[in-house]
Order: sequence, then structure tokens, then C-alpha cells
Amino acid sequence: MKLTSSISVLALTAALLTACSSGPGTTPAASQAGQVPGVSGTAADQNRLATIAPSLPVQPNLQRLPDLRGPKIQERPLGTQAITAQPNLIALKVLVITAGTSDPDLDAAKAMLGQAGVPYDVLDAATTPLTEDSLMVAADGSGRYQGVVLTNNALVFQNASGGYESALDASEWATLWQYEQTYKVRQLSLYTFPGSYPEDYGLRYIDGTASASADVKAASGQTVTAEFRPGAVVPVRNAYNYPASVLDTSQWAASGVASVTPVLTDSASRVFAATSTTTSGRERLALTMAHNQYFLHSQLLGYSLVNWVTKGVYLGEYRRYNQLDIDDWFLFGDHYNAATKTLDPDAFRMSASDALGVRDQQTAIQNTFGVARAFRFAVAYNGGGANTSAPASCDPNVVSADPLSSMTRCLSGAFDWISHTRDHLYMDFISAADATTQIAGNQTIGGTMGLVRDAHSLITGDMSGLGYYNPAGDGVKTNYGLTASNQKFLNSAANAGVQYLASNHSVDGQWDAACPTCGIPHPLKPSILLVPRWPTNIFYYATTPSEITTSYNAVYAPGGTMAYWDHALSYAEILDKESDLAVSHMLSGAAFPHYMHTDNLYQYAPGHSIAADWENAVLTKYSAYSTLPLNTLPWDSLGQYVGRRTSFMKSNVRAVMNVAAKTVTITSPSGGAVYASGVRGGNSVTYGTQSIGYWNFSPNQSLTVALK
Ligand SMILES: [Zn+2]
Repeated sequence: MKLTSSISVLALTAALLTACSSGPGTTPAASQAGQVPGVSGTAADQNRLATIAPSLPVQPNLQRLPDLRGPKIQERPLGTQAITAQPNLIALKVLVITAGTSDPDLDAAKAMLGQAGVPYDVLDAATTPLTEDSLMVAADGSGRYQGVVLTNNALVFQNASGGYESALDASEWATLWQYEQTYKVRQLSLYTFPGSYPEDYGLRYIDGTASASADVKAASGQTVTAEFRPGAVVPVRNAYNYPASVLDTSQWAASGVASVTPVLTDSASRVFAATSTTTSGRERLALTMAHNQYFLHSQLLGYSLVNWVTKGVYLGEYRRYNQLDIDDWFLFGDHYNAATKTLDPDAFRMSASDALGVRDQQTAIQNTFGVARAFRFAVAYNGGGANTSAPASCDPNVVSADPLSSMTRCLSGAFDWISHTRDHLYMDFISAADATTQIAGNQTIGGTMGLVRDAHSLITGDMSGLGYYNPAGDGVKTNYGLTASNQKFLNSAANAGVQYLASNHSVDGQWDAACPTCGIPHPLKPSILLVPRWPTNIFYYATTPSEITTSYNAVYAPGGTMAYWDHALSYAEILDKESDLAVSHMLSGAAFPHYMHTDNLYQYAPGHSIAADWENAVLTKYSAYSTLPLNTLPWDSLGQYVGRRTSFMKSNVRAVMNVAAKTVTITSPSGGAVYASGVRGGNSVTYGTQSIGYWNFSPNQSLTVALK
């Protein structure tokens, strides 16, 4: 860390000020030891980088579906039971039926329902019989499920003799369909062979055309994928698919088909998804491509499919977020030298002109992308690097004790400001008194500088203090888990009013693998909620396209420390790969920030920084597919939202819809946050075309609300 003499006396701790690291988890100390991605190849690099892949998991789903044939299964009334069906009463819960539990299509189904917070059960038809009892509540005759998802249309499994058959027999299919018909419940077949068995979706496979790749778009005249950008072409890759045609209408009646509406087609008008109704009135949606939870087409379709199968009324909520944190404002950072591939320690500090440029880049992003009108950078500041006596000025050429401090005052209303501790000290072994100085002291400086700050949120240097550290203080870190966090630091943070603390999504245990949209109440200080942040491969020490390209390729190109790609990537290719990752994160519905650093804000050309280039690449890609807006929340609001979402996801909320009365009765055994979509009341918000209600329930509270 170097501070010029123009920096304030607050920088007495200059020797301790360190810029925090980028995604691969490097520390400044490690960087000085040459253990930084793109700088030198060491085993340590590989340790650090192991948790950050430069692309989504490549998991092709090339499972073929057999063209099963069999006698026509007759739909029939539900059997005579001791109870009478009450088709107006239906629980807000979805039934996923699979044949075996290792199906990527099952993973996709669980992901899309989980991302919306929709309660669901999984029935493995290969091992568990499907009965009327499993579909209806015995006590009052109400339906247990509001919608049915089949992982594939025939629930295919391979029997002991190697042949393929359906995991449901004819009687079980008939029971399922009669339930759907009686309770007017929709059925979604995620992966469908367009044939006639066990039921006919009114689609026929076009012989010889199946492949692992297709380009599909929303068909005109359908509303299932209403959020898609008109004309958007969605690539289906590494996913086996069956192009289909619509069954000739002359055969509909004999096939039990009353209507067919294509939902997804390609440029040759071949059908890849269609809704259809049966002559008995059942509503179905069949897609003819394979899925997994990472495929772009599966992620993009999730919102539409959940809305369709639930008829837009469900427990839970789904929104998309666009959060980008910039760490280390006011500090010097290491700077990559692309010529020598070495680091110059603490050699870069953004200028007043850079800072002004960031505001203008932010405005340009808001104006360019209709989905990102709410976008604002969240700036994590280290007040120890500020000069609190520098007067406000919006002139990038101002003569001031510290032009960056002067410009920061000018921009106090432009960004969301969050404390990053006063001097960026590691919190792993810090004393209570020093932690308080770092946390409360930085809040004080933020107040003095007029920064609109999130008083209940904190990002520590390198997200330290959470049990991921090097026992020697510097160097390669080991994950000892959250219970190895520094209790003194946690206490000091709580005493300073901190409720929301950034954690590192690339460290196991600092995010909730069982609930990917949840935060984590800290096990040693439950009043503090951990909000995970996603790293990127825009390394913290890069200021220009040349620097990020050279350093990225020193890691991921052939011969790199973690060779991954088959060639050295261009800057545009790097942005393409990185935006793939970020768009996937956005589509997951998790409201977690990505994070970068002030080096990445250097205005390398008028109107350009690599951080803004990344954001532009992400939004260009996202908005090519979707019109659904992206929320950006200030950190305190973000933390509050993640906390509510976490509470809801963990509290086993139940609801029953009364179709006749057009109401939903919601019950929460443990109380806490409740979200429901498609209903009125509560603190409701509109997102896209959906109405989302929020309530805070007391334990065992029930509430009846009206449908939208
Ligand atoms: Zn930092």
C-alpha cells in the first residue's frame, strides 16, 4: 500500500491498507508472493482457483426417449372412496413425478420450482405407486397438488431385461389424469417424445431430425413465454431434442386431442413445445428438449413454466436481480503489468475523472437497457483512504488535497455506498477494539463524507472474519468453516448495527447449498445474515482490456496455470464467457451481488471501464432474451429481502386455494416471512405482470387473501 502525501492523516495505517482480491481468492500478501492468477503459475494458484470455473458446468443431456407404444389408456372417473372429492379445494403445492432420481430433468424441475420458492413433492414412480390417496387429502377431499410436472412424458425407465417401459402402469396413468381432470390441474411434461403413448400431446416427431442442438423462439399467438423478447432466438445446446409437427386435425378426435397451440418453434416452423387440451378437458404443456439446471433454455423457461403449471397462483415469488459491488473505493490497489506479467503492488488508485466516468457509465447503462432502469453500482468504501477535509467538487481537474475525495462528495447521491471497513484489515484475528475502530470508524467517515450509506450492511476486507483464513495471517487460505469465525469481530459488527454481512460464494459453507436463493444466519451470531457474493474472473488488478485479457489467458488459455480453453481468448470472448455465468446467476433468482474492484473502474477510453464493459455485456445478453426487469436494491434493502426470502424458504408455509371463492388461505406453523404470487393483499408489489404479496406471520397464523 502506498499513499501519496496528498492523502489524509487518516491514512496513518497506510502500511495495513490492502486492496481486496478478486474472485480467485487471492490475497495481497499472496500477490506479493507471486501467487496471483495470471501472474505466475504455482500450485497455490490452482488451490485458489479450484472453486471458480470460467464456464458453467458442461453437462450434456443426451438421453434418448423411446417411442413407446401400447394400448390406449382410457380415462375414467376417480374410484369410489370413503371421502368425496372437493375439487374446489387445492393445496398450493406441485407434484413432480420422476422415474428414478438421477435424471437431469428432475434437477431442472427442482431448480425452477425452488427458484420461485414453490413448495413441491417428488414422487419416484419407479419405486412408489401412484394412488388416489397420494393425490388427495384423505380428511376433506381437497387436492394435495395444484400442478403436475413429469420429468419426461412417459416416465421411462429401463427394466430388468433391458427394455424400456413406463414407470406408471395404465391404471396409475388413468388415476393421475382423472385427478387432473377433476381438480382442473395442469400437467407439464418437461421432456417429451412426440408420439402417442402413454398419451397424445397432438405432436408427431419428424423422423430423422433429432439432434443435440436447436434454435427456438416463441411461437406467435401463445402467451406462455410472454416475458420473452419478441423475436428472441433461444439456443438449445447439448440437449437432445425432437423436432415435431402438429398432428393432423383429422386424427385429433381419435387421439383424444381437442386443441394444440405451439409455444416454441424454430425457423422451419418445427415445434419444440406446445400446449394442448384433451377431449376430456385436461390442459398440458409438452416440451420436446432435454433439460438440466444449467442449460440456458431451461433457466430461461423456468419462470414461464412455473407460471403456467400453477396458473400464476403459488406460494413463493420469483424476481431477477442485477447487483454489482465495487470494492476498495479510496484505496490503492495492485496493478497488473501485462508486459512483464507481474504485479506492481498498490500502484493504482482511481482518479476523480475515473469516478465521474463511472457515474456517466452508470447513466448510460440505465438509458440503454430497459430491463436495467434501476441499475446502480454499489460502492464499498474504505474511509481510511479518504481525505475528509477535501471539499466537494464535481470538477475532475479540481485542485484539492484529494481530488477523489472531492469528487466522491459530489457523487454521494449517485451510487449505493456500503462500508468496507476503514482500512481493509483482515478480521480473522482482530481484537474487539480494533474491529470496532474498523467498522464503526468507517461508518463515521461515511457520514462525514456525506455518503448515502447502508448502515446495517458490511463488506469486510477480502470477506475476512468468516473462518476462511491462513493461520499465519497471509497467504493461501484454508476453509475452517463459519464456526471458526472471529467472535470478537462478529460482536463488534453487531454492536455497530450490522445486520447484513457479505460472504464469499466461492467458499463452501458461506452459501446455502440446500437453498441456493437463501442467505445464512451466522451460526455464531444469528442476528447477522450472510449474503453471498459471486466472484467474477475480472481480476482485481486489471485496469484495461489488455491487462485482463493477458492475465485471464495466463490462467485459462493453453499453457496457463489452470488451462481450460483450447485457445487464448480475446477480450470480447472473455466478456462473452463471463456474461454467460452472470446471466445464469440472474436467471437463478438469487439476489446476490457480483463484485469487482476499483482497478476495474479505470476509464481506459472515454465512456469505458472494464467493469462497465462487463455490465454492458451481461445486459446485452440478458435483454436479447427477456423483457423481465432486473431489480437493483441498496444493500440494506437487499439484506432485508434475502433475510425474508430465507425465512420463507425455511418455514414450511402451507396454503389452500378455494377455487370457487377465489381465495387462498395461508398458514405458517413457525411464523415469519410469507410470499405468495397471484394474490392480493399484504405488501404487494408488481413484478413483470405478476402480483407478489408479502406478509410477516406470527407462529400458526392463518390468513385468507383474494386471488388477483
Ligand atoms: Zn476489498
